[in-house]
Amino acid sequence: MISFMTPFTKRNLLIPVAAVLFMGVLYVLDRTVPILGSHVQHLELIIISLMIMMSIVIMLFWSLLGVCAGLAYFFVSMIFLYRPLTDLNPYYYSVLILAFILSSYIGYRASRKIQLSGQDYTVTMEKVQGDINLVSDHKKNREAEFSAMGEKISSLLKLKGIADSLSLSLSEGDIIKIVSKETFNIFRENGRVMFFMMDEPRRALSLFHTSKGEGRKAFLPENGGIFGRGALKNMKSLLVKDVRKDFRFSIDEETMKDDATSLIIKPLVVESKVLGLLRADSTRGSAFAQHDLRILDIIGELAAVALENARLYRRTEELAIRDSLTGLYVRRYFMERLEEEVKRALRSNGSFAMFMLDIDNFKDFNDKYGHISGDAILKNIGRVLKRKASAGDIVARYGGEEFAFLALNCGREEGARLAEEIRDEIQKSPVVLRREKCSVTVSVGVAVFPEDARLGGDIIWEADRRLYAAKAKGKNAVCSG
Ligand code: GH3
Ligand code: MG
Ligand code: MG
Repeated sequence: MISFMTPFTKRNLLIPVAAVLFMGVLYVLDRTVPILGSHVQHLELIIISLMIMMSIVIMLFWSLLGVCAGLAYFFVSMIFLYRPLTDLNPYYYSVLILAFILSSYIGYRASRKIQLSGQDYTVTMEKVQGDINLVSDHKKNREAEFSAMGEKISSLLKLKGIADSLSLSLSEGDIIKIVSKETFNIFRENGRVMFFMMDEPRRALSLFHTSKGEGRKAFLPENGGIFGRGALKNMKSLLVKDVRKDFRFSIDEETMKDDATSLIIKPLVVESKVLGLLRADSTRGSAFAQHDLRILDIIGELAAVALENARLYRRTEELAIRDSLTGLYVRRYFMERLEEEVKRALRSNGSFAMFMLDIDNFKDFNDKYGHISGDAILKNIGRVLKRKASAGDIVARYGGEEFAFLALNCGREEGARLAEEIRDEIQKSPVVLRREKCSVTVSVGVAVFPEDARLGGDIIWEADRRLYAAKAKGKNAVCSG
């Protein structure tokens, strides 16, 4: 029946319409042309029309419903029409058979044509539909590619931003803040990013920085939790889609209290040395995919290299300002810090004391015990000075066997007392050389800011002058005024 809806079968419907019109024409002719009425009886006209109509109907049955339907209809009509047609005129029956054969042939041709056209139509439609599907698939793929490309470009731009910011920072604190902030910007909707650093003496992670969205809890296991420790153990980045369903970890009570459901973790490793750990997590399950882990991997690599660079830079800087024998600051650094402290004290109306120390008769000591023993003495004095220094005080090896000490927030009295303590302690701190306890004494000159001088160079000059005064007094003495 569906085939009735096709244009070809719709066209066939015109045939019975044409037959009805034909009958109408015959009827009108019969009425209007009397001569025709005289040759053909009214009843005969109806029967002939009926026959033609029937053969057309047979043809339609044949063409639309198939051969069997056409034949069945033909036989049924033959049975019913045999009596009336042969009663009227025996030849009408033959005419009906002829009409049937003719219309059967036309019906056969028509059905073939309809079938072929239908097949062509179906094939064309299937082909068109196939093409449409192909084009739509292609479009969908392209759209997916474009969106993935867009995401990749945006991720790369963000990564480039991080790399640029990191290349400008040489302090660990800045690096940690930049990495946490930028990682949080990338995984913003997931709500929390944490930066852990490896606490070397404890050999454990310690939380340094957290960037989190509103409504997120503070992270509880400060030492990285089971997932952080797991990632460090394997030295591999980790993706957990649901912390409660991940069979690799048996979660403890503390982790249960945390509001994270899914997370990604990247250990920060440089040359097999763990520097820290970067973690992003979310309250949603499956909030991260492999793609996110890859981005965190790259950020982690950048962060690890930047941290290592910062450490190397700090170490180089330390080396440049520290004396290799005593570990005290070098003269250049002392001078810079002295100028800074002068400015600070001028601003805040503060005061400080500066000592200049010189070992007494060190030449003789060297001659007696050798330079290596002399070096041990210098180291020992360095240790004493460091021990006596308070936070913020600056102690330097000023020259060969001369030391400078800047004691902050000290007046003359306090400065003189501290210098005396130092002198005494050096005298009482012998060094064992060749199984012999050896000690040296020092002479100290003390100058006080701002009473003695208001300029860095003048203070040194004044302390030096008093040092020589102490030497002149007989050495192993402090001169503070
Ligand atoms: P004074 O009491 O007047 O200061 O007598 P001194 O012998 O200490 O005289 P001076 O301060 O001029 O002595 C400097 C000596 O310090 C010379 C040198 O042998 C020694 N010296 C300087 N630098 C070093 C060093 O790095 N190691 C060793 N072992 N000795 C050093
Ligand atoms: Mg000297
Ligand atoms: Mg000396």
